[in-house]
Amino acid sequence: MQVITRFAPSPTGLLHIGGARTALFNYLFARHHYGRFLIRIEDTDKERSTNKAVEAIFDGLKWLGLEGDEPAIFQSNNINRHKKIANELINSNLAYRCFLSNSEIEIIRNQNKKEGKPFRSPWRNPDHKGIKYEKPVLRLRMPEHGSTLIKDIVQGDVKVDNRQLDDLVLLRSDNTPTYMLAVVVDDHDMNITHIIRGDDHLNNAIRQTKIYEALNWTPPIFGHIPLIHGSDGTKLSKRHGAIGVDAYKNMGIYPEAMNNYLSRLGWSHGDDEYFSMTQAISWFDGSSIGRSSSRFDMQKLVAVNGYWLKKQKFENLYQQILAHHSLKENKQVSIHFKKRLKVLLPQLLERYSIISELTSKIDFLIYDGCPEIQDEAANLITKESCIILKSFSKIIEKSPTNAESFEIFINNWLSEQELKMKDLGIPLRIALTGSKSAPAIFALIQSLGFEEVKLRINQICI
Ligand code: GLU
Repeated sequence: MQVITRFAPSPTGLLHIGGARTALFNYLFARHHYGRFLIRIEDTDKERSTNKAVEAIFDGLKWLGLEGDEPAIFQSNNINRHKKIANELINSNLAYRCFLSNSEIEIIRNQNKKEGKPFRSPWRNPDHKGIKYEKPVLRLRMPEHGSTLIKDIVQGDVKVDNRQLDDLVLLRSDNTPTYMLAVVVDDHDMNITHIIRGDDHLNNAIRQTKIYEALNWTPPIFGHIPLIHGSDGTKLSKRHGAIGVDAYKNMGIYPEAMNNYLSRLGWSHGDDEYFSMTQAISWFDGSSIGRSSSRFDMQKLVAVNGYWLKKQKFENLYQQILAHHSLKENKQVSIHFKKRLKVLLPQLLERYSIISELTSKIDFLIYDGCPEIQDEAANLITKESCIILKSFSKIIEKSPTNAESFEIFINNWLSEQELKMKDLGIPLRIALTGSKSAPAIFALIQSLGFEEVKLRINQICI
């Protein structure tokens, strides 16, 4: 049997973190089993579905490399098929037309609730004589006895007493199919073998199983994954970063990092933290999916991104920085920028994990001349520090070009001048970068070159 999974989003908003993880898990599971991964857009709710959301979902999936193996199916195209199947269930007496008005439904529901019974309409009894004054809905006749079991690959065996199940609606009074019916018919028609989705659908899975049984179809194997929570343990909301995946893309998160991070939200492979899609595919067999909810942690995502940032080829990274960089008014990118970046990059990659942050911190490499100095740093450029900087600029050309010798050279010079490292280090960093927290001096000098260092010292200490 070939494994076929699907991602079935409702196009009512952006592709957010939870949806992306569902798509990813289904994708990994299918690829692991050399199966197929399909996309179905569940757009039957015409009021809430938008083309913009469909586009956002496709764009997000494309960015993550989670495109379907076949063109996406649009559920709204299958409505006639859903209706046909529903009507077959009437013929086999497994579904019935229910003519109750809303107020009658309310009364029965309340009464049954009090008695701990599910909703069952009197119209399930073929002999029921009532007024057929409403357009009927079509309901599934749930069994009166027994229980329903699903063997969930995440939740284990989930068993529900059939006496707890409402006679669910298959066709609404306007003859449109419900989600419950549509999802079962489509999954069957698409030959879906496995469904991994959020555990908010676990209750649906039991009810959907009854539709499968009524139709004499084999249900797929389910895996209901705990929902993602925010870092404070509450339901993920915008406040926690439940924004569309495109927002992460714009921030400079790499798709490799997003997939790497999302795959670990609820699934693990030993202690492996950083891995590629190829590795994830080889490991993701459906086991090791946790049953407790996972927490979305932006800092961790950024840290994972740092790993992937380090893996970028220099030329790509350079281009990405230029793309992220917004040119300051009247300022020309230095012709030396690329060369400087190459020298300082190992240091920068130790400090920054995301291209947007890295780009925002390297104006001192991007432009020639003295960078803008942050306010509190400016106070540290005093007359005394300028004397030190000026005399340093006179000996700089003699400094060796190897880190160890440079350190010895500088230390000798400092002791000759009866100075401490910080007497030089702090003002020099400020003069060269505009900030006192900056990479090691040697790396800075190497990156900028002697001429530029002297120029900046002279500009700041007039
Ligand atoms: N369309 C449903 C949703 O977006 C998912 C249906 C399913 O996975 O069965 O929540």
